[in-house]
Amino acid sequence: MTQVYDKVALIGLGLIAGSMAHAMREGGLAGRITGYARSAETRDTARQIALCEVCDSAAEAVAGADLVVLAVPVGAMADVMTQITPHLAPGVTITDVGSVKQSVIDAVTPHLPAGAHFIPGHPLAGTEHSGPRAGFASLFRNRWWLLTPLPDTDPDALARLDRLITAMGAKTDRMDAAHHDLVLAVTSHAPHLIAYTMVGVADHLRRVSGEEVIQYSAAGFRDFTRIAASDPTMWRDVFLHNKEATLDILGRFTEELFVLQRAIRMGDGQQLHDYFTRTRAIRRGIIEAGQDTEAPDFGRTPGARPAG
Ligand code: NAP
Repeated sequence: MTQVYDKVALIGLGLIAGSMAHAMREGGLAGRITGYARSAETRDTARQIALCEVCDSAAEAVAGADLVVLAVPVGAMADVMTQITPHLAPGVTITDVGSVKQSVIDAVTPHLPAGAHFIPGHPLAGTEHSGPRAGFASLFRNRWWLLTPLPDTDPDALARLDRLITAMGAKTDRMDAAHHDLVLAVTSHAPHLIAYTMVGVADHLRRVSGEEVIQYSAAGFRDFTRIAASDPTMWRDVFLHNKEATLDILGRFTEELFVLQRAIRMGDGQQLHDYFTRTRAIRRGIIEAGQDTEAPDFGRTPGARPAG
């Protein structure tokens, strides 16, 4: 593989930045990789596992970088920009990996120095694990990485970032930021909230029925608990920053839930059967699109990392 950037600075050293560091190193895609995280503890861990050249300030990490990756929770993007803006190299490309796009654009663009290229992005890849030890090189392999370029985005800067992402194994697509936020509200954000809720319900019930909920936990509930184990800070920020789209989808979800609830109450087996037949077809479509596997337990074998 050929080097795409001379120096890449990773701001935030968690699952996504860590996976990028591994993938870039494996592919020889960056001359140097520097990184910074807010806490000394995370920086020390990143140093111990030799994730990248770990710096003690964001300013030091970005100095001379031709690519800066904002890999912090979406609510921290503006704070990071205030720390790095005076230290950015001329002509730098800045991208982010946040799960919400419009609010990140609103947070970052006011801080951009003249001549900097900002290209928002979102890898559709993850696990319920977080922190610098959670990263691994193959996280992005065959996963989508959505880019939501602004109307005035420089085509050369965009093509170069695209080269880096595809060299890490991902497939790129472009999307308008507002559309991205709506699509992700359906496919990721609302499902996470539903999983958090279902686990919360079971937790209440556990207080009534002892340990049975844990002991006899079946596949459906276990999958909810995996999703509901995701990082609380990241997900708090996702909901606070994709408020409208998430509330829209949750409103629709509640309506559908009432329809099914009524069908159960009325004993309308035909309606339930028709509904489940339609949803089964969606599952088949996801497998055909290569976004999951037919294997039992969602392809998870003991010790294997699930793709989120
Ligand atoms: P993570 O593992 O929790 O890591 C977040 C990192 O950001 C930590 O190193 C944290 O440092 C650092 N950080 C937080 N606030 C900061 C600040 N103000 N200044 C500097 N560093 C700060 O998170 P992640 O899963 O990699 O997620 C990072 C971004 O990717 C988020 O925007 C998320 O929405 C997005 N994303 C996540 C997934 C996923 O499944 N996890 C998938 C796609 C996109 P400390 O440890 O010192 O606090």
